Amino acid sequence: MILRTSIARALAWLGIIERPEFLVSTALDMPAPEELLPGLAVVVGPNERPKWVTFACPSGCGTPILLSLNPARRPRWAVSSDWLGRPSLEPSVRRTDGCRCHFWMRRGRIDWCKDRGGVLPKN
Ligand SMILES: [Zn+2]
Repeated sequence: MILRTSIARALAWLGIIERPEFLVSTALDMPAPEELLPGLAVVVGPNERPKWVTFACPSGCGTPILLSLNPARRPRWAVSSDWLGRPSLEPSVRRTDGCRCHFWMRRGRIDWCKDRGGVLPKN
């Protein structure tokens, strides 16, 4: 994990890839909101059946965002990461409170949406 992060940073520094805004990490237990680092999406739960993904809101407001990965629940998200540990989220995330941002996370980059579509996280 630390190695992949270093490779991603080095490739970005060399200009080979765009600097990732997010990299993925894993944890067995839910991190406390104050433990969330900017730019780190934490997949929580056992490897074979992760339960949540949590990260600080990329808008800059820093509010912890918590998304369910449980396929039996709605809404639910799917998270994947590439060989550099850059996360992608499916579908998009739309906040109805706070900063009300709406975005996609794709290969570690945040794509902002201007529309009001998307799926609502439950708080
Ligand atoms: Zn925000």
